[in-house]
Amino acid sequence: MPNVYQYSLDRLNEELDEVTSLGIPSVIFFGIPKKKKDAVGSGAYDEHGIVQEAIRQTKANYPDLIVIADTCMCEYTDHGHCGVIHDGDVDNDESLTLLAQTAVSQAEAGADIIAPSNMMDGFVAASARGARRSRV
Ligand SMILES: [Zn+2]
Repeated sequence: MPNVYQYSLDRLNEELDEVTSLGIPSVIFFGIPKKKKDAVGSGAYDEHGIVQEAIRQTKANYPDLIVIADTCMCEYTDHGHCGVIHDGDVDNDESLTLLAQTAVSQAEAGADIIAPSNMMDGFVAASARGARRSRV
């Protein structure tokens, strides 16, 4: 996509300096994992995943910037689907558990808004249950 780039954490502050100097109030992070993708998208809900680390770094250096986290697994699964696959189909309920875990880990890292591009049935309710358990 034109004018859309990927940034590593060591270059993030350069971009956020420009974002804040332009008066842009918020950013959204989509992650590309450094480690190998797998069938269950474990990079999505890794406490030290790329988005979780980007959120922490942003909130530490630009506390007034609103941080939105994309919550999906397709960037982290080796098959590219937004959830776990069983018998050739996305398993909605099993995916919900991992997607809610992703949302909670992003909120714990400091995300202000969770943006569920996964569109899995029941995601918001599953995330709310996960948030109540973790107290975020
Ligand atoms: Zn997706």
